[in-house]
Amino acid sequence: MNGSTTGDTDEREAYRLRIRAWLADNLSPRDAPARVHAIDYYTPDVLAANRALQRTLFDGGYAGISWPAAYGGQGLAPEFESVFLEEALAYVTPDFGVLTATTFHICVPTMLAHASPEFLRRFVPMVLAGEALVCQFFSEPSSGSDLAGVRTRATKDGEQWILNGQKVWSTFAHLADFGMCLARTDWEAPKHRGLTWFVVPCASTGLTIRPIKQIGETSEFCEEFFDDVVIPGADVIGGVNEGWTVTQTMLVFERGAGRPDGGAAASGPGPLAPDMVQLAHASGRIEDPVVRQKLARAHTIDYIGKVLGSRIAEMGRLGALAPGMAAYGKLFRGTYLPIRARIGMEIGGERAATWDLADPHGAETSTAYLNGRAASIAGGTNEMQRNAIAERVLGLPREPSFDAKKPFSQVLREANDWKGTI
Ligand SMILES: Cc1cc2nc3c(=O)[nH]c(=O)nc-3n(C[C@H](O)[C@H](O)[C@H](O)COP(=O)(O)OP(=O)(O)OC[C@H]3O[C@@H](n4cnc5c(N)ncnc54)[C@H](O)[C@@H]3O)c2cc1C
Repeated sequence: MNGSTTGDTDEREAYRLRIRAWLADNLSPRDAPARVHAIDYYTPDVLAANRALQRTLFDGGYAGISWPAAYGGQGLAPEFESVFLEEALAYVTPDFGVLTATTFHICVPTMLAHASPEFLRRFVPMVLAGEALVCQFFSEPSSGSDLAGVRTRATKDGEQWILNGQKVWSTFAHLADFGMCLARTDWEAPKHRGLTWFVVPCASTGLTIRPIKQIGETSEFCEEFFDDVVIPGADVIGGVNEGWTVTQTMLVFERGAGRPDGGAAASGPGPLAPDMVQLAHASGRIEDPVVRQKLARAHTIDYIGKVLGSRIAEMGRLGALAPGMAAYGKLFRGTYLPIRARIGMEIGGERAATWDLADPHGAETSTAYLNGRAASIAGGTNEMQRNAIAERVLGLPREPSFDAKKPFSQVLREANDWKGTI
């Protein structure tokens, strides 16, 4: 039965009122909309403050609202999570930068689908309490788009595993507590069949995490060196040598299925792109008809992205999402975030290109522009999303593969022989 003007059922409305009262008592109201911070904003101290905030949510019963109660969540339907997100928009909530997405929207949803109940009972409450932030260790110097080609080696030693190898591009690994790591456990199987996922504490003996200094002087990514890192057998996610199945789940979440939609579809187009409107005002160009067209374009991108994200999240909840379908969301972000970032530069003009160093937000427009391309590479390039859509959704012929059926050790031997002939 519908008992409210918000479209809530009586049960949801009662939940909304409870949340409203709890938020007012426990969190600080926002004085400005949530914004994307620069990379160097995130320090261990900033994360510590956000961990405390996450703990407040956990203690109040508002963390993991739709995650299973057996693992520390609240076990409620996703609509209740959406109600919470709508109400919490006006408050300061935990912000772990990229680790928010990798932990809460990608890695833990993947673990919930594949890890053992014992592991989940131990691990998920730590995440919900803000004690375990998780980064992703999958890319390697010789394996990015070709993810099944990873060469980090996991060797069984009694009840434990020993990891050796190198990972790269791991976003915020220097600030994370754990990394979800893909390694090769069978070198005689074809490359997709000899892989296994592990959960690795970032403080492990033998694991060196080196932040990579980028052109802007900050470090968003790291490279890692694994030298005899010991992992207990209980910290394997999914079956041994069944890592490719787990990877398919992770790619679905990576491409957007794990993000709660916050009631996006129901809430309509929302306000005109607030950051762009602010920029147009600050540049004195809000009446300029060309700028107004650009504001409309940014707004259209925002709304289409919101609705697409909402549909993908809904398909994920219904269990109807395959990596090919999820690729539409990733391809949208990879294509349109750079366009939106360019619109910011066009609206802001010289003000976006040069700014007063005393203005803490001055660099945001040009940083978004310079970082715009990242969305077309991180988590799988635009080309790989197009391949997934072509092969898995449209049914076009698969890309020819010379190595998918051979033992991986043979693939490496042939690659070495081939190198020797040139
Ligand atoms: C901002 C950012 C954050 C990242 N964060 C992480 C992280 O946290 N953890 C992690 O493990 N990795 C991370 N990565 C790595 C990312 O997943 C890889 O960069 C990505 O998968 C591409 O791999 P690559 O860089 O090796 O490029 P390559 O795979 O070498 O690709 C080079 C070019 O060839 C094209 N190409 C390759 N294969 C094909 C094909 N079959 N068909 C058509 N075109 C193809 C690609 O599209 C690309 O244009 C991150 C990357 C970025 C940019």
